[in-house]
Amino acid sequence: MPSNENPKVKKKETTRTFQSVKGMHDVLPSDEPYWERIEGAVRTIAKAHGFARIEPPVLEFAELYNKTSGEESDVVQKEMYTLKTKGGDFLALRPEYTPGIARAYMQNGLSRAAQPQKLVAVGPIFRHERPQLGRARQFTQIDLEVLGGVSDPMYDAEVIAMFHGILTDIKIKNPTVKLNSIGDRVCRPVYKKQLTAYYKAHESQLCEDCKRRLDANPLRLLDCKEPGCEELKENAPSFLDKLCVACSNHFKEVLEYLDEIKIPYSLDPHLVRGLDYYSRTVFEIYAEGAEEEIGALAAGGRYDYLMETIGGHVTPAVGGASGVERLIAVMRAKEVPVGVAGGKAAANAKKVFLVHAGELAKKKAFSLLHSLREKGIAVSEALSKESLKAQLKVADKEGIGFALILGQKEIYENTVIIRDLSNGVQEAVSLDKLPEELKRRLSAK
Ligand SMILES: [Zn+2]
Ligand SMILES: [Zn+2]
Repeated sequence: MPSNENPKVKKKETTRTFQSVKGMHDVLPSDEPYWERIEGAVRTIAKAHGFARIEPPVLEFAELYNKTSGEESDVVQKEMYTLKTKGGDFLALRPEYTPGIARAYMQNGLSRAAQPQKLVAVGPIFRHERPQLGRARQFTQIDLEVLGGVSDPMYDAEVIAMFHGILTDIKIKNPTVKLNSIGDRVCRPVYKKQLTAYYKAHESQLCEDCKRRLDANPLRLLDCKEPGCEELKENAPSFLDKLCVACSNHFKEVLEYLDEIKIPYSLDPHLVRGLDYYSRTVFEIYAEGAEEEIGALAAGGRYDYLMETIGGHVTPAVGGASGVERLIAVMRAKEVPVGVAGGKAAANAKKVFLVHAGELAKKKAFSLLHSLREKGIAVSEALSKESLKAQLKVADKEGIGFALILGQKEIYENTVIIRDLSNGVQEAVSLDKLPEELKRRLSAK
């Protein structure tokens, strides 16, 4: 093999240019209107429903997820980012919110406060998945949980309604809710047996993963996306026929509550969700017509047994989560308008832009900016540009309403010129009266 190394040609030292880690994205200024819109919707709805904020740490003991999400779940088996600390602890970057919030509920004695506790969290989640549209390795989840009290179907319906409400609020048209019940400890073993028998009869069609987990966890087979397994799912026995009386009544009531508030849904007797802790209600919400392409926009279910698996008492609970970046992808694809009505120009028509003329004026302009902002008046600038013309050009580009012009003369006279950029009319105003004058003009326009 010829060698690339030629001793006469010195290799040029190259400086590495860094890229973000695969599957992890920057939130950019152009994303901001979407974030604001979504966070606003979540805040409004959470507040209206009496949900309070909780924010567990990003790192938890990895075992917390093994015990709750399940050793066999994709989250634990393939997707969890784990690390060993210098002290020898085995930790995981949270691959979902629910186990950490359940742990926090126990640890902080929230079970002794009024029940149920209604909690909301919004923060980063980490999953080592194959990156694709609407699926990143770091993403942000909106999480809603109702913990404690009794296993009341009303709360299942409330959580579903809240996610439906958030989607509707951010103008995603006709979100479709899919529902199923996966029973409890009484009826699930019976169903599992039937499911195992069904799959055993078709074992040759199954993928290797499914063959392996058939005995341990046949429910997971309903979640498999391999073509052979998907095909088998069609005729698999339905859980809804096998529910015990208590589970059947619970599910019926969930549907009645949803009917009551006119939230449309469809039943999917093979919907399972890939996590071990769910019992009874499981749900997924999709954007109409984007089901295959982008996946569920919100999903969750009831998890009455989770607390027991981490050393607590049986604690009825129901919750769900939604990925912010995925919502943004749908909003972009569907061209959902964000921001103030009338778009950028209308929003900025009320804005103030400070312009300086001369080096001395620049220092003074800087302090004027500061004092106006302290009084709650938003002011933008291009102070690093020297010429008046260049600065005004930026203001024009941004569609600004008023320019404040500060030159030598104004400094000596303790004034500033306000120019209305919509008509070019300008007048000098004393600096003492400026904040008041600006507030007046901004509210009038
Ligand atoms: Zn499979
Ligand atoms: Zn049951």
